[in-house]
Amino acid sequence: MAELKGVKKLDKKVSKFTEKFGCTAEMGSEFCYWKGEDLINYSLLVGLASDGLWREYVLKNFNYKIENIFMFSLLHEIGHHLTMDNFSKKMRNAEAKKVEKIEEKLNESDSEIVFRNSNLEYFDLPMERVATKWAVNFSKKHRRFLKRFWKSFQKDLYAFYALNGIKLNLS
Ligand SMILES: [Zn+2]
Repeated sequence: MAELKGVKKLDKKVSKFTEKFGCTAEMGSEFCYWKGEDLINYSLLVGLASDGLWREYVLKNFNYKIENIFMFSLLHEIGHHLTMDNFSKKMRNAEAKKVEKIEEKLNESDSEIVFRNSNLEYFDLPMERVATKWAVNFSKKHRRFLKRFWKSFQKDLYAFYALNGIKLNLS
């Protein structure tokens, strides 16, 4: 990733949020959770093709309409942090193997059907599903709290984009 200015400041802001749940946050190229380090990587690259499928999956399976994909993705990773210990090492390894297979399928094929089915299969893996479920429950219960954080984070985000000369196309 190119050297961006003001990343530490954003990390601090997101960490302020995630620290309530016992983990810190650092910007990365994609959202993920590092078990053992209690670290979450967040990404500003939202609006990926898989996000649309995730929205569809969450609506269908949890009857929840994702309002803010960034916040929901962050909560999903917090969900991993809070639920991962419910899974034995054996289960975690089994799921990691399945993820590898799904990634292989995605890398090998350009087919839209494979993309769709593989992503849906991924979202529905036990650990993924539980983390999403946690994110849904939290989002439903703490809507105002999330909105307040987002509003404040958005200000920092705009300052970050301006600092790096990134023009936003807000339509
Ligand atoms: Zn996940």
